[in-house]
Amino acid sequence: MRTLFLLGCLVLVGCGSFRPQSDYQVVIDPTFTPEQLDAITAGLQVWQTKFAGKGLNLSVSIAPCSDAEAQTCLVPNHDTDTSGATFILGMTHCNVGGGSYIQLYVDRYPTVVAQVGGGETLHHVLERTATHELGHALMGPEHLAAGNLMSASYTDQKDNPTPTDMAHFWGVR
Ligand SMILES: [Zn+2]
Repeated sequence: MRTLFLLGCLVLVGCGSFRPQSDYQVVIDPTFTPEQLDAITAGLQVWQTKFAGKGLNLSVSIAPCSDAEAQTCLVPNHDTDTSGATFILGMTHCNVGGGSYIQLYVDRYPTVVAQVGGGETLHHVLERTATHELGHALMGPEHLAAGNLMSASYTDQKDNPTPTDMAHFWGVR
């Protein structure tokens, strides 16, 4: 049986007035492990590659989140509950000030690795989830059809932004 993993994005009031930024101050919580930081950095590089020469900037630091209204904060959530038919791997709160608060449910990813099988790794689950949730921070709460990075379910997603993802990305700007 194929299990779908939902990547949730909790849409708060501020997301309704989502306004894209040109400079993103990304702040990664220092309590992620070195291996987790590697995977998150890889996810950031996916977007930085897309930004190159396009007038957008992502600056990255490893520090506690100090201002989620202005910063794009990534923090671990250590909830381990994977008992439901679907469960959340990441959640992004979009804030009125243009910043975002991204929670990555890192302690649920071993279950994803076990259920997906086929050489799936913790690094890959975290990299793709970070890339997807950063996508919400950059382009708002919408999900796209299966076969895109911004598909809702893990098993429907691509690792990198597709032309459809990028059309949406530029369409909100
Ligand atoms: Zn999502």
